[in-house]
Amino acid sequence: MKNHLVIYNTLTRTKEKFEPLNEGMVGLYVCGPTVYSDVHLGNCRTFISFDLIYRYLLHSGFKVRYVRNITDAGHLEGDRDEGDDKFEKKAKLEQLEPMEIVQKYTLGFHDVMREFNALPPSIEPTATGHICEQIEMVKQIISNGYAYEVNGTVYFDVEKYNKEFPYGQLTNRQLDDLIANTRELSGQDEKRGRLDFALWIKVKPEQIMRWPSPWGWGFPGWHIECSAMSSKYLGDTFDIHGGGMDLQATHHTNEIAQSQACNHKAPVKYWMHTNMLTVNGVRMSKTAGNGFLPGELFTGDHPLLEKGYSPMGVRFFMMQTHYRSTLDFSNEALQASEKGYARLMASIKTLENLKASARSTSDIKEIEKNCYDAMNDDFNTPILIANLFEASRIINSVNDNKETITGEDIISLKKLMHEFVFDVLGLKTETSNTASDKALQGVMEIILEIRKEIKARKDFAASDKLRDDLSKNNIIIKDTKDGSVWTIQE
Ligand SMILES: [Zn+2]
Repeated sequence: MKNHLVIYNTLTRTKEKFEPLNEGMVGLYVCGPTVYSDVHLGNCRTFISFDLIYRYLLHSGFKVRYVRNITDAGHLEGDRDEGDDKFEKKAKLEQLEPMEIVQKYTLGFHDVMREFNALPPSIEPTATGHICEQIEMVKQIISNGYAYEVNGTVYFDVEKYNKEFPYGQLTNRQLDDLIANTRELSGQDEKRGRLDFALWIKVKPEQIMRWPSPWGWGFPGWHIECSAMSSKYLGDTFDIHGGGMDLQATHHTNEIAQSQACNHKAPVKYWMHTNMLTVNGVRMSKTAGNGFLPGELFTGDHPLLEKGYSPMGVRFFMMQTHYRSTLDFSNEALQASEKGYARLMASIKTLENLKASARSTSDIKEIEKNCYDAMNDDFNTPILIANLFEASRIINSVNDNKETITGEDIISLKKLMHEFVFDVLGLKTETSNTASDKALQGVMEIILEIRKEIKARKDFAASDKLRDDLSKNNIIIKDTKDGSVWTIQE
């Protein structure tokens, strides 16, 4: 297996040649959703980006174990052990059991991922299903001397850890700098250091989600679940850990500290982070009021949206920006992508009926090489797509008799388009089911039948006029030896 893949590693802030720990195998862990509300679009971007990465690793011949967790316990509102538990709060609001909240939003999350054609991970472990593993890990960290218990809650001792390991390495920050930027401890705080974080949290009397532990009834801190589950399924050190870049400073920094303190090994070789979403140039957030949900994006039911956009159109739109760049949503950009996606799909259809010639006027091998070079360069999808558009331009030119192609190159082009468009980019043909699309389909069948009869009567002037009139309305008729076909020109 040839492997020329280069990955940008957040840990070293450089692009590095990808060398898996075990030849031919990849362990990939991605922080999954906290299932207390509908999954938001920023999270979808992260999961779709890692779906692409997973797909390309599989396409490159690696055996991949892809673990993406479900956070269904222990996530407080504040990043630093403050605020209410997200599940308990939502359960009260919706008058449901916390686990009913978990079930409802887990199913909703899976539905959205299916709509976006994201492959399911190999393992999707839940925090509540791994309480024992988390308790064991906390016990080990205490016995290694990096954590302490106060009144039923266990905290990680960041300053002690930092004496031996650089705590701020993932964001390239010094401890003093981090401390200076963190709120001072009040008299009521139990923790010793400002940056210390909870590994296990004592339960409040009214709380439903609770488990017994050596420190009394409680629940795990948010960060410990990922350390416990990643090492359980991928080992103490594994290849790739991914997530949104908003997780870098706290969640992932703490994951590294916990795993290192427990196992005396750096947990991850390559850290990968996806960038944020903006809407018309403004960061998407609840407070800015510019956050729409995937469902709203599909139906167009939001004041910022001019219309609904199909899941594949949105997926294609996301792929046109590199995962490490900000992705800006606007109606113009989404509509441009929709057209591009339709153009690409139309050319794949055209490819099926292409005529072979004695020689090719274009270098198909060169395009194939460019596609692999783009993906091997830290999964550069915008450059990949530019090359696929070049392939689709060639297909259309050959179809219009402006260029020629050999039978062998047609086979290579089919393989190239199918593998990159369907297997790697994860796009699929969308069958349109709207009433107007069905009506148009019916009308066009009638028109083509009438035109066939006109031609049979040898009234070529009338049949050409019909074709030209339709063309003025962007409906292109093409006569093939198997009959006439029609497409809409975008
Ligand atoms: Zn995580």
